[in-house]
Amino acid sequence: MIKSITDAVTLANGVEMPRLGFGLADVPDGDPVIRAVGWALEAGYRLIDTAAAYGNERGVGWAIRRSGLRREEVFLTTKLSNADQRAGRVVEGFETSLARLGVEYVDLYLIHWPVPGKYVETWKTLEQIYHSGRARAIGVSNYLVHHLQDLAQRAEIVPMVNQVEFHPRLQNPPLQHYCRERHIQLEAYSPLMRGGVVEVPELAEVGRKYGKTPAQVTLRWILQKGVVTIPKSVHRERILENANIFDFELAEEDMATIDRLDQDLRTGAHPDTFDL
Ligand code: NDP
Repeated sequence: MIKSITDAVTLANGVEMPRLGFGLADVPDGDPVIRAVGWALEAGYRLIDTAAAYGNERGVGWAIRRSGLRREEVFLTTKLSNADQRAGRVVEGFETSLARLGVEYVDLYLIHWPVPGKYVETWKTLEQIYHSGRARAIGVSNYLVHHLQDLAQRAEIVPMVNQVEFHPRLQNPPLQHYCRERHIQLEAYSPLMRGGVVEVPELAEVGRKYGKTPAQVTLRWILQKGVVTIPKSVHRERILENANIFDFELAEEDMATIDRLDQDLRTGAHPDTFDL
């Protein structure tokens, strides 16, 4: 039973990663991001997910320092931008992120997207960054099974995490299976379908049984599937709502109801055709 916001999974290299985190795509740097991260840390979130491409690393670092928490109490993820990957500026991109965040290390460093022709070489540089001790874990994002198979043939380290779009309408069972078999932790982005979960009647129906909202049952379903997730909100009440999921457990039949909602439907770009 997953009981607390600090409950963690153990990655393949032994690092502990909180199951519930806080996402920060499209949150502007400065006051908006500082406020949102402050509320999230107050609410108990201990995993913060940013990226060079979000342009808010400076504010994220500031908000963490201002919280009074020790650095090691917060699990911090950032990601290499596609622009730096295309230009082969992997180490520079990483070091710029550390400098903007104002930290000596990150807990997880991800390749944001599998840029064709680049992502295997990029991964080899992430392996070096990992060996340098400045990223406690390394992983990928938006990798499908074929990208992971490609890496497996040519790389030394298996990614510890794969962060992908994942929610009731997009479940990708083969990817879930592949990652489970190889101890690659799946991490769900856009878990709330960017707000769309409120329009799915079955989620509201399951929610009524437990006195929970569609967002809450969705997040709980993701955690009970063994997947880490990082809902985003800039509203304090929703930040609290999304964290208030540790006092109930979805029954097997309700898990199955949500499993049946899969339509292979994306809210974001496809990893084989992205243009970002
Ligand atoms: P989410 O599925 O987390 O949805 C966020 C949207 O839902 C926002 O518009 C938010 O509005 C709204 N919302 C939040 N809570 C609730 C609620 N309880 N009820 C109803 N609506 C709600 O989408 P994201 O795309 O932001 O994904 C989450 C995180 O995943 C990102 O922030 C980012 O960190 C990561 N991500 C990674 C990607 C990658 O390529 N690796 C791609 C996309 C996301 P409001 O803020 O106004 O409250």
